[in-house]
Amino acid sequence: MSAAELDTSSSPRAHKKRKTLEMAENKDPKEMAGAAAPQTNPTSSPATLDKGHEAYHSCLSSNKEWAAEYTKANPDFFGKSAQGQTPQVLWIGCSDSRVPESTILGQAPGALFVHRNIANVISPTDTSILSVVEFAVGAIKVKDIVVCGHTKCGGVNATLGNSKLGILDVWLQPMRILREKHHEELEKLEDPEEKRTALSRLNVQAGVDTLRRIPVVIEAMKERDLQVHGLIYNLHTGLLDDVETKEDESRKETRASTFTLQ
Ligand SMILES: [Zn+2]
Repeated sequence: MSAAELDTSSSPRAHKKRKTLEMAENKDPKEMAGAAAPQTNPTSSPATLDKGHEAYHSCLSSNKEWAAEYTKANPDFFGKSAQGQTPQVLWIGCSDSRVPESTILGQAPGALFVHRNIANVISPTDTSILSVVEFAVGAIKVKDIVVCGHTKCGGVNATLGNSKLGILDVWLQPMRILREKHHEELEKLEDPEEKRTALSRLNVQAGVDTLRRIPVVIEAMKERDLQVHGLIYNLHTGLLDDVETKEDESRKETRASTFTLQ
């Protein structure tokens, strides 16, 4: 499944999936229209010639403006950037367009190493995320890893629903297992948004646990105080909230002795 199918394809199948996610999320149609409205540049001639793709062309013209302004303010920036990267934080977040990590953290290019997927699911058999972690921790030697979920997450909404979503059902399985495991406490929450946020938090905690069982992470935690954090981004306020991920020393030792591989 391509990103285009998820977001922009007009094929009936993709449309059905998108509708299902939107319905599961129970969005206000006005809010959705506002969120989807492209930031077009009325002076951009290619946009006016390529009807329906104004947002894309606006992105390209904005890039030129951004690069020019950034160079003016930081003449050496791109020269240094091209020489290499030394980010100190690995960010693992949701693909949701409303949670762009560098923007919400006020960070410049080069500050964050990033992996994003639908609903920030961290699966121990996902070679994509394992490769990112291996490189970020083993080679770049980041000092902190952040797993960040967010409120009103479409993937969480889908997990709390029972619609068939095809390959997404496979992807969301770890979170559906969390739903099953925490069924009683989730069912006690009458407010749907509270329930969604609760599952988002459980998903972040589970992601942090999975990361702490990866050998390269265990080694870096022991040898150079690598820390793994959990956060939730609140779409209503733009603020990050901490997710409890502390563990006592005995659990830390048991985990390390079980998952340290030599
Ligand atoms: Zn999400």
